[in-house]
Amino acid sequence: MIDYKKLGLVNTREMFKRAINGGYAIPAFNFNNMEQLQAIIKAAATKKSPVILQVSKGARQYANQTLLRYMAEGAVEYAKELGCNHPEIALHLDHGDTFETCKSCIDMGFSSVMIDGSALPYEENVALTKKVVDYAHQFDVTVEGELGVLAGVEDEVSHAESHYTKPEEVIDFATRTGCDSLAISIGTSHGAYKFTPEQCTRDPKTGRLVPPPLAFDVLDAVMEKLPGFPIVLHGSSSVPQEEVDTINKYGGKLPNAVGIPEEQLRKAAKSAVCKINIDSDSRLAMTAAVRKVFAEKPGEFDPRKYLGPARDNMQKLYEHKIVDVLGSENKLANLD
Ligand SMILES: [Zn+2]
Repeated sequence: MIDYKKLGLVNTREMFKRAINGGYAIPAFNFNNMEQLQAIIKAAATKKSPVILQVSKGARQYANQTLLRYMAEGAVEYAKELGCNHPEIALHLDHGDTFETCKSCIDMGFSSVMIDGSALPYEENVALTKKVVDYAHQFDVTVEGELGVLAGVEDEVSHAESHYTKPEEVIDFATRTGCDSLAISIGTSHGAYKFTPEQCTRDPKTGRLVPPPLAFDVLDAVMEKLPGFPIVLHGSSSVPQEEVDTINKYGGKLPNAVGIPEEQLRKAAKSAVCKINIDSDSRLAMTAAVRKVFAEKPGEFDPRKYLGPARDNMQKLYEHKIVDVLGSENKLANLD
């Protein structure tokens, strides 16, 4: 049993409380390689933002969970080296699908886990989430549950259609499971193709696809039922069109990729939404930078010469999210 507190990590309880009261959201960035982690930590340390490092099931398979855990431990020390003396970094399991997966992460030093029983019948979701909470809380590990189904593809998580969270279920779910935060479905979705062109309208000036708005009425109804309870949004990449353009310009093929407009996320961040998950945007930033180097310097074969620019581009993206979208800049409890 590894105690995450000894690794310098924190759970999400205090950061969420402050985020709700302060009208901002904590960034939850997925990582599965060194350059991504460096970019996340550089951005969070420079901007003095709390941050949640997310590891998905796919990332654990790709990079090895032991290695990822040590990388997160190293991230705390790296943040300090960058001049951030009191970093607030949570290590979080994204989309845990079984009690065993969650337990193994908790035992390995994760400070927070998600148990995603959203595809199960309601009573089974309650039972599974409660089982994880009962185990996690013994070690002061926080737990995120989910109600409602998001559309899209993320690692093994894949659903063709979304089902909005039913506000009438949230009090019962939160009370009976004891979960610390709740992921809800209000129209966000996983991946870089969040909406089909048929679901969107087109901006007559730019010709860009404009996605349908999020269901803020569902969010409002959830907040009315559970005042002050931490709400999480998954699938909240904005799919920056300049990155998509760069990818397509240099040989990529991402037609009609579309995400959640940033002004909608800004609005959500001011509410009880206190954790916003962003994964696809960093994949796009990395891919765009790598493609550009390959196209412009075909003789280049030193990985540092293309992964370096990719890292810089991801850092720029993370800083933009922290400062301009989520509002978590300078929100560490101790800014010294
Ligand atoms: Zn997700």
